[in-house]
Amino acid sequence: MPPPSPLPAKAEAKPNPLAPLVCGRCGKRNPATAVYCFGCGGVVSVEEARKLEHAREMEDHAQLAIMQDPRMAALVQKAAGTRSEGSTMFNFVAGYSF
Ligand SMILES: [Zn+2]
Repeated sequence: MPPPSPLPAKAEAKPNPLAPLVCGRCGKRNPATAVYCFGCGGVVSVEEARKLEHAREMEDHAQLAIMQDPRMAALVQKAAGTRSEGSTMFNFVAGYSF
């Protein structure tokens, strides 16, 4: 019979902070401090993944607020019109540069 572990069971259950981070997309083993996968560029840091998820949620909320507010929708339409005029001018200039 093996001797009892000197470490309490709770400490054994904790994830090792120095363990390599295995990418869920490509399976590459990355250093424990990696934020993005060295193989495919996907997020491997749990903290970074949470930040990105939060940013996406905030973006969804902002888009919803814009769609529900007619004044905001009018501003977005106006800005989009300005941008498309700019890109038309860019295409005009780019056409003469070749
Ligand atoms: Zn990867």
